[in-house]
Amino acid sequence: MKDRTLLMIPGPIEFEPAVLQALGAPTTSHVAPEFIEAFGQALERMREVWLCPSGQPFVVAGSGTLAMDMAGANLVEPGERALVLSTGYFGERYAELLARYGAEVTVLRAPLGGTVDLEEVEAALRGGKYKLMTLTHVDTSTGVRVDPRPLGALGQQYGVLTVLDGVCSVAGEELRQEAWGIDLALTASQKAIGVPPGLALLVAGRRALEAWRARKTPVGNYYADWGQWLPIMEAYEARRPSYFGTPPVNLICALNVSLGQILAEGMEVRFARHRRLGAACQAAIAALGLDQVPTDPAHAAVTMSAPYFPQGVTGAELLPKVQAAGAILAGGLHPQIKARYFRIGHMGATKPGDLLATIGALETGLRACGYKFEPGVGVAAAQRVLTEWR
Ligand code: PMP
Repeated sequence: MKDRTLLMIPGPIEFEPAVLQALGAPTTSHVAPEFIEAFGQALERMREVWLCPSGQPFVVAGSGTLAMDMAGANLVEPGERALVLSTGYFGERYAELLARYGAEVTVLRAPLGGTVDLEEVEAALRGGKYKLMTLTHVDTSTGVRVDPRPLGALGQQYGVLTVLDGVCSVAGEELRQEAWGIDLALTASQKAIGVPPGLALLVAGRRALEAWRARKTPVGNYYADWGQWLPIMEAYEARRPSYFGTPPVNLICALNVSLGQILAEGMEVRFARHRRLGAACQAAIAALGLDQVPTDPAHAAVTMSAPYFPQGVTGAELLPKVQAAGAILAGGLHPQIKARYFRIGHMGATKPGDLLATIGALETGLRACGYKFEPGVGVAAAQRVLTEWR
């Protein structure tokens, strides 16, 4: 029998059949006309998905961490100052990464489940002479969403580059890169972009490219250097063959298919669908009496949820039972609370029915662990949001 267990973790996610077919198609040469066309089209489509009409897209084989690395390697020079707004595990990763490139890093840490106060950010920028600031749009370890709008505006006001880690957000959470003044927005293929793992993706705005062009020192990473990749991206977009490192041909074809599907849905419709799925999942969790890591529903992500286990229930006990009931969920990641919570992804191709099946499986698992609640209360709460949402 076909394994119909749903993969509902915050990436990788369930992928569309047409995307998987592109991945399984015979591999062409990286300079074959049909591949050049697919790559060129994918680059054009990225601008539309990121809502950054004048940005420069980059597509490179690697995971999301390589996309973070490309931003760090190209934008900071040794001795320059970087401000990291940390809302969890991936903020800490950015601080470590930037220090590796010689940046003097200041971290503004949010309380667990919260966000950094804007006044605190502005005070730091006012006094700081920072080259860049990073924010994690959705930190996958906490499910906390940061509002990029006021941060992009502050970055513009103080002449500081704003780098957005959108690995758990791009193509799910609302993001208007250019209008919001975000200088670089990066992601990976395996989340809301809807393509199996293996692609580092980013769009750099005009100020980011200018800062890279104005460098006094060479980029300290051979593979990540935009000097290698910019001519390649420009060539493919101009529908000319080019080579620096062999592109992952099938993944890029799959990316083009997925971006086409995303744009066919439409960005506004897609943002609204994710908002509805997030609200439905979080309503179900609340109805089941579980607390959530984000301390304020207003800054809970729409791409994922992070509920605490009920008293006396562990992940080792619950998660295999939920999986046996039909949905794979993820354990905790934030070191401070790792064993106390779990994570549900609801992004990309997730349909309302997938979410209802997931909540049903969660209820079955919780029941089997001896947790008491009125059966169906979570599913009903989710269904109410899904049907009444306007
Ligand atoms: N940033 C965030 C917010 C993430 O969720 C992840 C992956 N979970 C990463 C960065 C790193 O991406 P990757 O695992 O693809 O290297």
